[in-house]
Amino acid sequence: MKAVVYQEPYRVTVEDVEDPRIEDPTDVVIKVTTSAICGSDLHMYEGRTGAESGIVFGHENMGVVQETGPGVARVRVGDRVVLPFNVACGFCRNCLAGKTGFCLTVNEGFAGGAYGYVSMGPYRGGQAEYLRVPFADFNCLRLPPGDEHEDDFALLADIFPTGYHATELAGVAPGETVAVFGAGPVGLMAAYSALLRGASRVFVVDKQPDRLRLAERIGAVPVDFGEGDAAEQIKELTGGEGTDKGIDAVGYQATVREGEEQPAVVLNTLVEAVRATGALGVVGLYVPEDPGGPTEHARKGELLFRAGRFFEKGQRMATGQANVKAYNRQLRDLIVAGRAEPSFVVSHRLPLEDAPEAYERFDRREDGWTKVLLKPGA
Ligand code: NAD
Ligand code: ZN
Repeated sequence: MKAVVYQEPYRVTVEDVEDPRIEDPTDVVIKVTTSAICGSDLHMYEGRTGAESGIVFGHENMGVVQETGPGVARVRVGDRVVLPFNVACGFCRNCLAGKTGFCLTVNEGFAGGAYGYVSMGPYRGGQAEYLRVPFADFNCLRLPPGDEHEDDFALLADIFPTGYHATELAGVAPGETVAVFGAGPVGLMAAYSALLRGASRVFVVDKQPDRLRLAERIGAVPVDFGEGDAAEQIKELTGGEGTDKGIDAVGYQATVREGEEQPAVVLNTLVEAVRATGALGVVGLYVPEDPGGPTEHARKGELLFRAGRFFEKGQRMATGQANVKAYNRQLRDLIVAGRAEPSFVVSHRLPLEDAPEAYERFDRREDGWTKVLLKPGA
């Protein structure tokens, strides 16, 4: 089958690879209908993670069940399903507590597994024609048959639940004000989720006009950090106080700048933008080590967080991979009921063959390249 294969920093190719097969009785194999490119793929694509060549990318997957292992009880051939990017067992201590992003079974020595991701276990990605899904009864979320809402449902694999998770980590409550840093797909989903949860005003910080326009379209207030300090702008817009809650949907990518001895994090600005005793939800990814980083600190993953200001303001912070399964059923039902339409972020739907160009352009954050869905077999 054809698949998107990582070769070296800034280069993926579409190659023939071996078809996946049932390896464990609890596996299914799906025929992939949609697999999205994610900002998280760019950490590997840009060479920040030490990913080895040969990895098949793709952790945001949906499709139709093609084959089931003998131990699969619930999922049937022909079912249309979306897979959380987290590979999870369903029976370990963390999974039982709903923390499926930290499954203790799937990835020895490390809590949490994912498809097509370095250090997240041996699971091949779904930017391919077929995908093996482990612990399929637990991981498959069934969808209405047909092809309705395909793009909305595809976003249930990661960014919609991840955006929602950010609001959960921050504890966004009705009527509150929220500052979201990053108007990438994840930040936009966090802003959308905050509005779904009844936030009164949501400020979205970025400097890309096309992304800020999308934020405005869903009813958030765009804040362009190219026009001056974002925290100052947000304070001014909130009567000097700052917002109740804050979300980091930027992560590591904003930190590493040539010539800075110890890279600072966007989180410092977030601490300033949120009021004293407010709470922060951090879903932007911080890579533990950056083998290609420009400074010793960057290579060791040592970033400058002004803990003193955080203490002084008495804030709370929560972070980590999203536990997609904790939210994807409810978010699916909002889509089915016509109450949520996350696909407003989707800018491109492309055949698998176009992946190399799509990676290049999404990585450059070219105007209008917000979220790319790959459609194998299209
Ligand atoms: P993205 O790179 O497309 O979006 C990041 C946005 O941040 C860009 O639009 C960029 O212009 C903006 N930005 C850069 N510096 C900024 C700054 N100083 N202030 C405000 N905005 C700034 O990526 P994405 O797909 O939206 O993902 C965002 C982050 O979320 C990535 O780090 C990704 O790895 C992470 N992520 C985490 C999870 C999770 O489970 N926790 C899941 C998916 C993605
Ligand atoms: Zn993702």
